[in-house]
Amino acid sequence: MKTKIILDENEIPKKWYNIQADFETPLSPPMHPQTGKPVGPSDLEPIFPKELIRQEMCQDRYVDIPGEVRDILTLWRPSPLFRAHNLERVLKTPAKIYYKYEGVSPPGSHKPNTAIAQTYYNMKEGIERIATETGAGQWGSSLAFATQLFGLECKVYMVRGSYDQKPYRKMMMQVWGAECVPSPSPDTNSGRAILAKDPNTPGSLGIAISEAVEDAATHDNTNYALGSVLNHVCLHQTIIGQEAQKQLAMDEATADIVIGSAGGGSNFAGIAFPFVKDNIDKKTETEIIAVEPAACPSLTKGLYVYDFGDVAGLTPMLKMFTLGHDFIPPSIHAGGLRYHGMAPLVSKLHADNLITATSVHQNRVFEAAATFARAEGIIPAPEAAHAIRVVIDKALECKQTGEEKTILFNNTGHGHFDLSSYEAYFAGTLPDYEYPADLIAESLKNLPHVA
Ligand SMILES: *Cc1c(COP(=O)(O)O)cnc(C)c1O
Repeated sequence: MKTKIILDENEIPKKWYNIQADFETPLSPPMHPQTGKPVGPSDLEPIFPKELIRQEMCQDRYVDIPGEVRDILTLWRPSPLFRAHNLERVLKTPAKIYYKYEGVSPPGSHKPNTAIAQTYYNMKEGIERIATETGAGQWGSSLAFATQLFGLECKVYMVRGSYDQKPYRKMMMQVWGAECVPSPSPDTNSGRAILAKDPNTPGSLGIAISEAVEDAATHDNTNYALGSVLNHVCLHQTIIGQEAQKQLAMDEATADIVIGSAGGGSNFAGIAFPFVKDNIDKKTETEIIAVEPAACPSLTKGLYVYDFGDVAGLTPMLKMFTLGHDFIPPSIHAGGLRYHGMAPLVSKLHADNLITATSVHQNRVFEAAATFARAEGIIPAPEAAHAIRVVIDKALECKQTGEEKTILFNNTGHGHFDLSSYEAYFAGTLPDYEYPADLIAESLKNLPHVA
């Protein structure tokens, strides 16, 4: 009855898995925001290093992970796989529950898996400074950590609501030498325009992305980095699922159900894509479920169309499930899941019925988080707890039916900086936002037209 399944450090995967190679029909290309024509590599060169642009469009099944990147990943990888024996006992379920724990990285989430890789390629191509946005601060702190290790400067535009309410992530960025400002900020044209209209706006990820992209495009030797959504980000996260498959095999288990929370889609991609590959190649029938917040339900309620990644319409248009680029989601406590769109790769899998999606309200999410923390000890991030809610529901279904299913989920990070949201849950003051149908309908009227 093993509880913790660990791999040796030389078993960190040597390649990332690129699911584009296994699509029956190609991914719809990104479109230029002004011309409406497919984006070419040269359109992206002002803000991304060449190697990441290559990976974004790459059709090879595997991409080598550079040795220097693997060396840094050994700081916390391979991450442990846990069997949640205590949670199983508490739930009295015949299901077997396993989770991959990504909270062991120094910033405390899965995001450094790509922050390290992205910073490495920027450093290799002579870039000296990276600008980015962050919602609740997990991505900003991950990039601050990575840029510090490689000696690059970092500027983070942090969604104002979180900047004011969640100071600890901002302090972490400061420790790792990054400059973090609340967004919208007076430092960019996009920020100034929004402040002029609404000086008290809490901001949004879409606004902060506009600021960071503008910063990168208007400063020499500065690039932009995104912590989710893009193909290369999903690619870098696939080490999670590859490790998990090895670890399950060491316990002589195979997953019947794989569950991940989905904000922009990257951690879900990371745990899920290697299992999707097996469903395609080996005809396994693993059920693969993305879980999103009911207040920001892009996969379950959005449209699969071209939309901008940001509010100002500066980014290429991506074909994805979207709620509209100017939709500002209600202030739920899982800041990392408040994004209007979904990764094109994850969106396509959903459109092709290779995965399923469901949405959950935050009070039931925190109930699951507390149950998990009391059984397993680890206090999960509210984002991760979205997956846990559905894991518990599935395990309880197994109790009804007597099925001994094996459930794997991605526990993406710890919730040590989210304790005030736990406090609000215990005090009974967390609202369950209704699905904001009117706001979404309004925002969907502003979708760009793509021929
Ligand atoms: C950012 C974040 C998420 C959601 O982002 P994805 O790109 O959808 O993975 C989930 N969990 C944690 C802990 C995060 O920091």
